[in-house]
Order: sequence, then structure tokens, then C-alpha cells
Amino acid sequence: MRRPLLPPDLASPQARADLRRLVALFRPYRAWMLWGGVAALLTLLANVALMATSGWFIAQMALVGLTGAAMDYFTPAAFIRAMAIARTGGRYVERLVTHEATFRLLQALRVWFYRQLEPLAPARLQQLRSADLSSRILSDIDALNHLYLRVLVPVAVATVGGALIIATMALFSVRVAAVALLFLLLAGVAVPLLTLRLGHAPGRRLVALRADLRSAAVDGLQGLGELRVYGGTQAQAQRIGALTDAMIAEQRQLSRATGLAQGLLGLAANLAMWCTLVLAVPLVHATALAPAQLPMLALFVLASFEAVMPLPLALQMLGETLAAARRVFGILDARPQIEEAADMPVPHWTESSLHIDGLRLRYPGAGDDAWALDGLSLDLQPGARVALVGPSGAGKSTLVQALLRFWEYQQGSVRIGGHDLRAWPGEALRAHIAVVSQDTYLFNTTVRDNLMLAKPDATPEEVIAACKAAQLHDFIAALPEGYDTWVGEAGMRLSGGQARRVAIARALLRNAPLLILDEPTEGLDAVTERDLLRDIATLMHGRTVLLITHRLAALPAAVDQVLVMEAGRVVERGSPAELLARPTGAFRALHDAL
Ligand code: ADP
Repeated sequence: MRRPLLPPDLASPQARADLRRLVALFRPYRAWMLWGGVAALLTLLANVALMATSGWFIAQMALVGLTGAAMDYFTPAAFIRAMAIARTGGRYVERLVTHEATFRLLQALRVWFYRQLEPLAPARLQQLRSADLSSRILSDIDALNHLYLRVLVPVAVATVGGALIIATMALFSVRVAAVALLFLLLAGVAVPLLTLRLGHAPGRRLVALRADLRSAAVDGLQGLGELRVYGGTQAQAQRIGALTDAMIAEQRQLSRATGLAQGLLGLAANLAMWCTLVLAVPLVHATALAPAQLPMLALFVLASFEAVMPLPLALQMLGETLAAARRVFGILDARPQIEEAADMPVPHWTESSLHIDGLRLRYPGAGDDAWALDGLSLDLQPGARVALVGPSGAGKSTLVQALLRFWEYQQGSVRIGGHDLRAWPGEALRAHIAVVSQDTYLFNTTVRDNLMLAKPDATPEEVIAACKAAQLHDFIAALPEGYDTWVGEAGMRLSGGQARRVAIARALLRNAPLLILDEPTEGLDAVTERDLLRDIATLMHGRTVLLITHRLAALPAAVDQVLVMEAGRVVERGSPAELLARPTGAFRALHDAL
């Protein structure tokens, strides 16, 4: 069976569709891209013209010297100088313009990706959580950008430049032009295809090995403690060593392919020049060609190969770019779990209440009767405080996700703020809800920016007031740069309790009428927890509160009613005192188990 010319990931309809989609993304920048291409083309032509004219000029000067004839050497010398300047200046302008275009494209691509990603969060992005995947995506986005600089520009310049060069050559000798064209096609089409075929398999294996090596290195570093305790360092080091060896072997194959391509390109260029001489010498004898035109044509042919030099790399880059595009489009093509019409009317928040009746939610891919919420009913009157307790896996966090409009539910009804939950556009709904949960994400920016996330137009006084209420102000004020101190990567510089206080301050700043506390003191020591509960009490003041917890000790003071959840439904409800008084109840059992 004949093997196809291009590997399937370059020639499939999918690859063509991805390429069209990618090029469409670049459309707003076509003027920049075009000027970059023009500068690259002019540079190439100036270089080729420089070589050819120099060949003619030197030969002509020698001939004139031998025969003692007179010649105007000012014009060709000026032309050569002009071409030399055009080549250098052109290279500079080309770099300037193509890099400007590249940066603009990169910025546009990143913003585009983020915009597309946003509606998918968090439900569709579960699989993207791992650090490896997110760094992979970052490099994929950067790879998309290579399409312009490393693929489109070289291919366009080679095609247009090559055609102009061959046409000019034909003015001197059609046969020389035909031979040059043949060798240019060999160098510009056959060699890149060969390199691609030779480099394809090792290239793919290298990508996989690189990912394995990265995760083995991260595992080795993050698990160093465990590895030392259990004596696994040697084995891990051997694993990394084996992966590195495998990578070197693949790299060697790739280098061999690139080396072969370089050699073949050089061979094609020199053979073309040799053939030119073989063809042109009889023409000089027959006086169809002036003697000085012989070296001119030979150098012209040689220099024209500059047009095709970047093509093997361009074809390889095209493969890598399309693979990256497939991964990026694959992520973005996931439909959002909740699809909203763009022109959805925004209801008016009329009352801070929550009524849930027979709510059932099943995660996609879960079994037919694996309901995470299985007929949950709950009533939260304005100003009420209700605690939701239950063992791990009961469905408490799922309820929060559904209320925030992150996951779609299948059955039952939910009314929130006076309207059906499904009548709310997610963003408008979330503006009325403040959440303090066990994981507070802190961005790697200043403390102030982290707080103002909740209210971007907050005044400095408002920020300070919120921090005072959250018992955070004294700590921040004592930092070297106060509110302008950088938090550090993933909030490393704040303790668990302080991070939780940032969440409380954010919730205060947002000043939303409905407050959801999702295990707000989880993972803290008893003393910090007690302090924090006091601040949470301040936050709860005047708000309708849904408190999710499995810490039962602080409940009586905090809430009016407790709902005990098990397997997605409420199995018991009543005031904390009532529930504690039932000796065989679920709440009593949970309480006694602690
Ligand atoms: P809780 O917060 O009470 O510990 P969860 O709401 O996290 O309980 O989980 C309820 C059930 O839903 C569990 O069986 C859990 O495995 C499942 N679940 C939770 N999140 C997801 C998810 N993102 N995808 C699939 N199943 C999930």
C-alpha cells in the first residue's frame, strides 16, 4: 500500500479545518502580517540581487582590466551598495515588524483563549486542574503563534520570491531557469517532506517522553520526603535517568533527520550551480551570453536557495502547531455545562430567600441512579440561618455548585432571590451571593488586589474597614508594604487562618445579601477556628446564611435550624437543641462520633 505523502495529522480534514480556524483568528492582524512578509521578501530579493550583481561586477572588472577597455563602474557599485544596505535594513525591519505582529497575535490568542475558557469553568475544566496540563496549555497557545512567523512567512516568501527569481533568470536563459526551478522544487518540497517523514515518529515520542520526564521530576521533588523515608530515591533517580536516555536517543534521530536535510539542501544548491555552469559555458561560447553573465548566473542560482532553506523547519512547525491547535480547540469545544443565551434578561433580586424543592442532580458520566443530590428540599427565609451538616460525600458541596449556577440540575425546582434559578444569568446571580469556603484562592499579586477582586471599585477606606471587621487589618498594616505587599505564589506567605480572613474580608466587601459558608473553618486548629468563628458571626450579621459544616460544636450559637444530609437528601431537620435531644437521630450520631 502506498503511504500518504503527508502524515495524517497534517493532511486530515480535521487538520485543514483547524488550520482554517487558526488563520481566521489571525485575520484582524493581517496588515501587520502582510508587512512583515513583504519586508522578508524584499530582504531575500536584495540578498539574491546582491550576490548576482557582485558576481557580474567582479568578472566584468577583471575582463575590462585584461582588455584595457573603459567601463562605468559607478552605477553597478552604487547598486551593490544599495542592495547591501537594503539587505541589512530589510532584515532589521523584517524582525521589527514580524515580532511586533507576533506579540500582537500572542496577546490576542491568550485573551481569546481566556474568554472562551471562562464559560466552561468550573464544570468543564475539572480535567485541567493539574499543573502539568495548565503549563502544557500555555505552551500550546504559544505554539499556535508559530504558524505566522515560522510557517506562513517562510512559505509565502519562498513561493513569491522563488517565482520572481525564476522569472528573472529566464530572461537570461530559459534552460538555466528550468534547471534552477527543478532543484528548488527538490529542495523546497521533497527535502521538507522527507525530513518530516523521518522526524515524525521520534518527534511524537519526544513530546510524550518530555511530559513523562516533567511529571517524574515533579514527583521526585514534591515527594522527596516520602522517597527518603521509604528509601525510594534511588529508584526514582534511575527512572529519571532512563527517561533522559530515551529522550537523548530520540533527539539523536531527530538531529540526524535535520542534519540530512541540511546536507541535502546544500547538495541541491551546489548541484544546481554546477548544472548552471554546464549549461551556460556553451552559451558563452556561442556568444548567447556575455562572459561576465556566467558567474552572475551561477551565483544567482546559488543565492536563490536561501528562499527554501527555512522550509523543512516550516513543515515540521506546521505539524507541531496543528497538534497544539487540536488540543486547544479540543478543550474549547467542550460545551459549557450551563448554556446561557447572550441576551438573557437579568431579573431583579427581590428577597433574600431560597426555596428548594425535590432537587436532583447527577454528574455527567455517573450511573443512572447515582444522584449526588437526590430529592433535596430546603427553605431559607430572608435573614434565616440554616446549617447543612452530613458526612463527606453527602452532596453538600454539590448543592453549593448548583446554587452558584456552575452545575446544571436535572429535576426539582429552586427559587432564589424571588426568581427561578434557571431565570438567572450566572454572573448576575453570583453578584448577590458571597461565598467563604475552605479553599480561598489567593492570586500572586498584592494583598489589596486580592481583596478588591470582590469589589473592583472599592475605596481604600472600604478595604480597610472590611479588613478590620475580618481581624486582618493589624496583620496587613504590620507588613513591610502594608496593603501593597505581594502575597506570593499561591498565597504562600499567608497562613491558613489569614487566607480565610481574606475570604471573609472579600465577602464583606461584596456585601451580598445571601451568604454561603462552605466548611469555612476546615483544616484550622482549634484556637484559630474559635477566633475565626467570631469574625464569621460579624459577617453573618444581617444576611441570609447557609452554613455547610461538619464541625458541630459551634452550631447552637450560629444557626436557627440544622438540616442533616445523607446521600443527597435531607434526613433530619430541626433546631440544634431539638436534634441533639433525639437520642437515636442522625445528628446525635454525628455529634457523638466527634
Ligand atoms: P460533600 O460536599 O458532602 O462531601 P459532594 O457534594 O462533594 O459531597 O459529593 C457528592 C457526591 O458527588 C459524591 O458521591 C461525589 O463523589 C460526587 N461528586 C462530587 N463532585 C463531583 C464531580 N465534579 N464529578 C463527579 N462526581 C462528583
